[in-house]
Amino acid sequence: MIKNLHSNILNKLYQREKMTRIELVEEFQIRPATLYDAVNSLKKKGILLEPDRKSKKTGRKAPEISINERHGYYGGIEIRDDEIIFVTLNACGNLEGAEQLPLSSHPKVEDVHEALTQLLKNQLQKSDRIGIPYRAIAVADLGLVDNQKGISLKAINIQGWELIPICHWIQKIVQVPVQLYSANNARAYREYRALPYPRPYSLLHIELDHGIGSGLIQNGEIYNGFNGCALEIGHLIVEENGPHCLCGNRGCLESVIGKISLEKRINGLKQENVNTVLNLESFDYSAFSKALQTSDKAAFGIFMEIVKFLGIGISSTVTLLNPEKIILSGRLTNTGEKLLTLLRQQLSMRCLPHALKNLEILISSFDHTATAEGAAALALRENLLNYKNI
Ligand SMILES: [Zn+2]
Repeated sequence: MIKNLHSNILNKLYQREKMTRIELVEEFQIRPATLYDAVNSLKKKGILLEPDRKSKKTGRKAPEISINERHGYYGGIEIRDDEIIFVTLNACGNLEGAEQLPLSSHPKVEDVHEALTQLLKNQLQKSDRIGIPYRAIAVADLGLVDNQKGISLKAINIQGWELIPICHWIQKIVQVPVQLYSANNARAYREYRALPYPRPYSLLHIELDHGIGSGLIQNGEIYNGFNGCALEIGHLIVEENGPHCLCGNRGCLESVIGKISLEKRINGLKQENVNTVLNLESFDYSAFSKALQTSDKAAFGIFMEIVKFLGIGISSTVTLLNPEKIILSGRLTNTGEKLLTLLRQQLSMRCLPHALKNLEILISSFDHTATAEGAAALALRENLLNYKNI
């Protein structure tokens, strides 16, 4: 009960930044003595700050309580196949810093381990220098994860990345609680956390890049499914007997609109001598978006195909989940308003009208450290805001 009150106070202050004791009493409708005891114990632990009630600074005004941002750091790590990203949030959830270490192309497990160790050591040195300890760390992994056991199950883009005890690796270097999430879930949480209160009941985030992934935050919680593999939108089958997918199936959304499939289409155009600025030597989604801006008809044809398959995948997801808000990210969203307009048309053709009522679809405004930031925010939430491991 008291632990819940501590957690409630921390969550409220995290949301509102500053409140007086009286405001907190009114907020929770509890006896002042009970609230004062909880606030005093949080102050004693260095988690809350409250200006001296009799100081000149506060005068006759009731002093406002806030979370002590120097109480601890919360780290978020994103493991990618081309780099590792580490971000640090302070106890108020503000970004304190970010560092990235690139990986060699086609990295092996040892390369990731080495880079991760280096990054952790760099960050620990900084925190020692500043005098603020890390309190918890969370990892966003690019593949399938067992978040209960803290094990990365499998990622096909890193050689040998199978059954990796990643939380244990980190705890050997820094003895703090470490949680593991899929990158899609961490990213969805980052998007959710940036929204103003009251936040949406359900937020679906979809990454549209060379890989296609998604995460759902429902009622403030990550929706994981029974054993952690829900929301694999990239592996929804959208074309019967379509191209082979790395998962072993055929016609998955990712295999139909992902990089390999687009390269095949461009190859086909070249063989038929179709006039286009697209070329295989420098192809990625950024080049594709640029081609669309030059009114390249062949690129536009491919784009229409992409949107059609995306429409099939996303409308199935909307029909099943009925989200309140969808946020898209990844390099395909460089196509901007063009993508949104066509996608909305697709959804209106395929979804129940009621599911589209008030459904907002937006493009993310975050950069590529967003997933690591989401992981750090989850570390902060699971520990400080839940008043655990303190
Ligand atoms: Zn697949």
